[in-house]
Amino acid sequence: MRRRALAVVAGVAALVIGGGCFVGAADDGGDAAEPPAPASASPGEQEDGTMTAEEFQGDIGSAVGLAEEYWGEKVRGFRPVQEVIAYEREGEVSCGNEAVPRNNAVYCPAGDFIAYDVNFAVAAFRQVGDAFLFYLLGHEYAHAVQARLGIQSRFTIDHELQADCMAGAYIGDSVKDGRLKLDDGDLDEFQSGLLAVGDDPNIPWFAPGAHGTAEQRTQAFFDGYEKSVAACDL
Ligand SMILES: [Zn+2]
Repeated sequence: MRRRALAVVAGVAALVIGGGCFVGAADDGGDAAEPPAPASASPGEQEDGTMTAEEFQGDIGSAVGLAEEYWGEKVRGFRPVQEVIAYEREGEVSCGNEAVPRNNAVYCPAGDFIAYDVNFAVAAFRQVGDAFLFYLLGHEYAHAVQARLGIQSRFTIDHELQADCMAGAYIGDSVKDGRLKLDDGDLDEFQSGLLAVGDDPNIPWFAPGAHGTAEQRTQAFFDGYEKSVAACDL
């Protein structure tokens, strides 16, 4: 499995990941319904020699920095999110009155921050590869862009598939303009990552928490990847 397949070519500032706790007023319900697995190690440990905390944080920072650069060019008056928060425990971060659960990542509109379970992200980094982090952060950043554009959807699934499309557009366009470099295997990583976060087939499409099946999420992502934001109904 590829660990350092993506390389950000230029122009992305490093991001400091904080451990703050914000209280907002709403929750998008969370994402990434099927986490690859619970993590066994903190990102500060270098268990198998294939990653370091610096590599991991570097990828997170690159993914966020690249998303900010991308949407800054696409959306007039774009403002970056207030903060990107790494957390480890349920209840460590709240969005509104709801604790952000483990094994997840969310954009919290009320506090205008992205929060992700750092152990979940490290596990995904190890099992799927670094490309998954770009997808994960790209998807959450897309929710922040939706909020800035005032986009509301009647059904959760439309909002989620649009965010997958936007994540695909941000990654695909960044690759096309040379800011992000993909290696062989990275597209497979996106595919296995998307398979891992697809809804259970028993969840109806109109369910309040529905994100889409693995096929739908993959389709949305690659539509955006290939055709840019034009494919995303913004
Ligand atoms: Zn989402």
